[in-house]
Amino acid sequence: MRLIPTHDESQSLRQEVLDFCAKTIPETTEGLERQGTMSDGDSVEFYRQLGQAGWIGRHWPEQYGGKNCSHLETFIIDEALGYARAPLSGYLLSVKVFGNTLMLFGTDAQKEKYLPMITSGEAILCQGYSEPNAGSDFGSLRTSARRDGDDFVINGHKIWTSSAEVATHMYLAARTDPDAPKHRGISTFILDMKTPGVTVNTFATLGGGVINEVFFDNARIPADSLVGELNRGFHQSMRSLDLERSAMDRIGAAKRALDDLSAYVHQDGTAPDGGRLADQPAVREKIAELYGRAQVSRTFGYLIARHLDAGSGASNEFSYGKLYIGLLSQAIADAAVDIIGPSALFEYGSELAVNDGLLTALYRASPALTLAGGSSEIQKSIIAVRGLELPK
Ligand SMILES: Cc1cc2nc3c(=O)[nH]c(=O)nc-3n(C[C@H](O)[C@H](O)[C@H](O)COP(=O)(O)OP(=O)(O)OC[C@H]3O[C@@H](n4cnc5c(N)ncnc54)[C@H](O)[C@@H]3O)c2cc1C
Repeated sequence: MRLIPTHDESQSLRQEVLDFCAKTIPETTEGLERQGTMSDGDSVEFYRQLGQAGWIGRHWPEQYGGKNCSHLETFIIDEALGYARAPLSGYLLSVKVFGNTLMLFGTDAQKEKYLPMITSGEAILCQGYSEPNAGSDFGSLRTSARRDGDDFVINGHKIWTSSAEVATHMYLAARTDPDAPKHRGISTFILDMKTPGVTVNTFATLGGGVINEVFFDNARIPADSLVGELNRGFHQSMRSLDLERSAMDRIGAAKRALDDLSAYVHQDGTAPDGGRLADQPAVREKIAELYGRAQVSRTFGYLIARHLDAGSGASNEFSYGKLYIGLLSQAIADAAVDIIGPSALFEYGSELAVNDGLLTALYRASPALTLAGGSSEIQKSIIAVRGLELPK
């Protein structure tokens, strides 16, 4: 079996997604023009139409609203959505982080309830893991879930919560046993964002989008909101973080930025000596190198799809893939500014902006890609331990 699907195998599916996006994105993404990495943006209307058109969660069983397809097919779709600059944050959190985790650890009743709500584009999930003192050190989280009769009562504070401003539900990690060693007393829950006691504050980001903090003040959720086993949330969350790191959307988006840069160099670019940028050896070398790295990144992506389709467990490929695409996205943005010069930094709305300011927006947004979903240093550490069997 080939690792990367051939052009013929994937092209008709990819083209269908691109056609859907060409029709839907202009009608549904007004106001997102300054978003440097569109896959970090959200449009509730785009998500709803994505669901209605049957593009969400196709790799899940039909009984849960899916189409029994392979993970590979979903990866091809995600890559095309990223290439089309679709707003994807809530979609990715709903499918990759929550839905795929529910398939592994949820009860039948939870799958029957939530997965069809996701595939139809009705439910949008956010992920409540990070806290002021618990980012890389996830095990230090303090938000508590205390059992009280038929409920859990949630108190605490989450930060960096992407998509909380549009989410209908949160996949939440909270401490259920304050006396257990820190990695053993955590559980995960599904929480309705309309629950009394939940407050969302929204902030602008350097990347041109928004991000949130969420407070819980005696928020009561039913006991059957527990996802997976009580106090096993640390291990489940590490698995869901692996699933989050399969970043085909970012691979598609990076390829799009590279194609935009390459088109500029071909068509418009003038070098400081008055010659064509396309004739400069350093420019040609840099672009060729980045295309090579983009192909490596795709290979990691499809390797992960094969792992998921084979049902194999956590592997260091997820971290290789995440590390590689984060660094590559930043390298493409840096190269664009180096090659185009200061005019690459004019923003959307300026008549001097290159590509409607998309490259400068990527330049502002790309450092965050080396943090979200786990920092580059943490990915290297996982690769060292899992992949190279070096001591922890
Ligand atoms: C755009 C964006 C979106 C995000 N969305 C979400 C979301 O939806 N939900 C959510 O829960 N979280 C989200 N996050 C949070 C993200 O998971 C954290 O930023 C990340 O885990 C790092 O945690 P931290 O920011 O607390 O940094 P810290 O953990 O404080 O790390 C600071 C620096 O120290 C380094 N470092 C820390 N520990 C080690 C170590 N052991 N070895 C080597 N270096 C180390 C890190 O690599 C980093 O460079 C998002 C972040 C970003 C940037």
